[in-house]
Amino acid sequence: MARRRQLYEGKAKILFEGPEPGTLVQYFKDDATAFNSQKKGTITGKGVLNNRISEYLMLRLGEIGVPTHFVRRLNMREQLIREVEIIPIAVVVRNLAAGSLSKRLGIPEGTRLPRSIIEYYYKNDALQSPMVAEEHITAFGWAGTQDMDDMVALTLRINDFLTGLFLGVGITLVDFKIEFGRLYENDDMRIVLADELSPDNCRLWDSKTNEKMDKDRFRRDLGKVEEAYQEVARRLGILPEAGMRDLKGPETMQ
Ligand code: UDP
Repeated sequence: MARRRQLYEGKAKILFEGPEPGTLVQYFKDDATAFNSQKKGTITGKGVLNNRISEYLMLRLGEIGVPTHFVRRLNMREQLIREVEIIPIAVVVRNLAAGSLSKRLGIPEGTRLPRSIIEYYYKNDALQSPMVAEEHITAFGWAGTQDMDDMVALTLRINDFLTGLFLGVGITLVDFKIEFGRLYENDDMRIVLADELSPDNCRLWDSKTNEKMDKDRFRRDLGKVEEAYQEVARRLGILPEAGMRDLKGPETMQ
């Protein structure tokens, strides 16, 4: 088979040309970066787990009517996705204070926020992805007001759904980052969830012990990084070792 043409290499993923027009192949690497790439490393097996976890979450979201770029998983590290025009805004949703919010505003990590907070960051490595307001986004044309309305509505649904899904397997969804793209079909344009959903861009804490089960273990040198990603997959019932045919459902926690 001819080698796929590489279109783009990011920090954790590579995009290849897809088998048919309008599709791409998304390859998940084990590479990990933090603090705007000042910290670099490898998390063995991360790509395989994130491919699975993202597939699982995007499929579940699809079932409740959240449109996503996901088509199907191709193999251990690759998934087929629809080609979208990425909106250059990272949308962060927070349920509990952590990370940059705690640092900037002096709110202790783990404080339950009075309501979920949505923040926007302009995706630009050279500028270290600064936080921006909706005003900047619409004024500079990164997204229109209708795009913003669609993104907020989808983001709130995604947050509610994922909060419940993770809570069901004993995990608190503290915060997460998502990205959206514009999907053009015939004469229509729809905003769809793109990129990935995995412990690389979510903060996931064990509901009972508050132990971190996400990329903070890498960022903060807490150790047992691979184990944490595996445990998330295990609780979701999608550990790769289980094999595709005998995948268990989520392990419900009381
Ligand atoms: N996040 C991400 N990519 C980034 C920055 C943040 O996926 O480039 C995620 C991060 O994993 C967390 C959420 O967005 O779940 C909020 O991150 P925060 O703003 O607290 O930044 P951090 O402390 O991670 O630098």
